[in-house]
Amino acid sequence: MGIERFDRIVYNGTVITVNLNFEIIGQGIVCIKDGLIDRVEPQREPISAYFADDLIDAEGGLILPGLVNAHVHLPMSLFRGLADDLPLSRWLERHIFPAEHRHVTPESVAAGTWLSCAEMLLSGTTACCDGYFYEDAVAEAVSGMGIRAVLGQGVIDFPAPGVADPKQNVEAAVLFIEKWLNRSLLIQPAIFCHSPRTCSAHTLLRAKQAAKKYGIRFQVHLAETRDEGERLRAEHGLSSVAYLFSLGLLDGNTLASHAVWVDDADIALLAENRVKLVHNPESNMKLASGVSPVPRLISAGIVVGLGTDGCASNNNLDLFQEMDAAAKLHKVMTKDPTVMDARTVLRMATIEGAKAIGLGDRIGSLEPGKAADIVVVDTRKPHLTPMYHPESHLVYAASGSDVSHVLIGGEVRVRGGRLVDQDLDGIMEQAASIGFAVKAAGSYKENESHGN
Ligand SMILES: [Zn+2]
Repeated sequence: MGIERFDRIVYNGTVITVNLNFEIIGQGIVCIKDGLIDRVEPQREPISAYFADDLIDAEGGLILPGLVNAHVHLPMSLFRGLADDLPLSRWLERHIFPAEHRHVTPESVAAGTWLSCAEMLLSGTTACCDGYFYEDAVAEAVSGMGIRAVLGQGVIDFPAPGVADPKQNVEAAVLFIEKWLNRSLLIQPAIFCHSPRTCSAHTLLRAKQAAKKYGIRFQVHLAETRDEGERLRAEHGLSSVAYLFSLGLLDGNTLASHAVWVDDADIALLAENRVKLVHNPESNMKLASGVSPVPRLISAGIVVGLGTDGCASNNNLDLFQEMDAAAKLHKVMTKDPTVMDARTVLRMATIEGAKAIGLGDRIGSLEPGKAADIVVVDTRKPHLTPMYHPESHLVYAASGSDVSHVLIGGEVRVRGGRLVDQDLDGIMEQAASIGFAVKAAGSYKENESHGN
């Protein structure tokens, strides 16, 4: 081994690398230097033979790449459980949009983002892709929590929080992009068009032009509901996917969430144009949007990551639960228990999600040269005993509360199940006080609607 010195070492665990061959190393060790993974290998000598400033004992647990939440709206944790059990249009237009109109400020966006980041860190998510309004406040809060993120300022064709004049929506997003481009190792700016129904062709084209100019991700909700598809077909004679293709919006930098209402021709278009997709099974189930044909999307060679969507339609940010839901939903949908096996689903929550958000060369697997974004799962639990196949436990038995340690870029963000250097009680108190104000504002009238 020699006397090589590392910044940190995670040892005494089973390493699930999620590399190309899905290598699993029993009694493995991950050595970290300058924020990067330097070695991933079996531990051949007692730990006393290794030199590091910080030794993290996984205590026989699982060491895996940090999970990637490829589609989320971080500040919406403030509206968790505000309105449930409603169809998407009514939920969105009569409850969520009005609540956002009344309560979304830079301060509340920051508070919701702090809360979401705390939840994500404690449940093993080290990177996310967000889209919301006041995205600058999101970026500041995410920076404060040390999470890796791709962040898109929201673009929509009606007055939105922070963008009173919809004609300025793309300009507001460009200001955000220019502020955050090349500013932080952890944050990449993006642009987020709400959907092909809430953004005109003109808006979509201008947003895509900006994404191309700055070389960033163009995010969009796509084919989420049957209604979207029907309206676009009535107006343009095209499916949602074909409509975006006709506008020249489909390419390898487009990140589309949902892709529920897609047929074989749509899947071929998405694959040919290397569009990246995000599957949000719990949100799609809760809003009864439908089931995205994920096994067929993956078979077509499309990169599909996993996301929770916003907290108001989930209602948490636990990617372990999301993996479990993704695996089971497609088995029951296809009546085939062999689809979406545990390895496929774990890949979606790690390396495929990383590729989807444009960070596939930097994160998503435990390999030398990649950023040290690492999670340790404590397996000393009755529900994780005994263990035959680690990936099976991660997808079907574990939950976010089993996470004991989290590192991002080699920095420890969670140690022993607790946030490092963050005031969790203060974060929760602030979010709870905003929740009281939302509740005090009362329920919304059925005919109250915002925008369209
Ligand atoms: Zn969404």
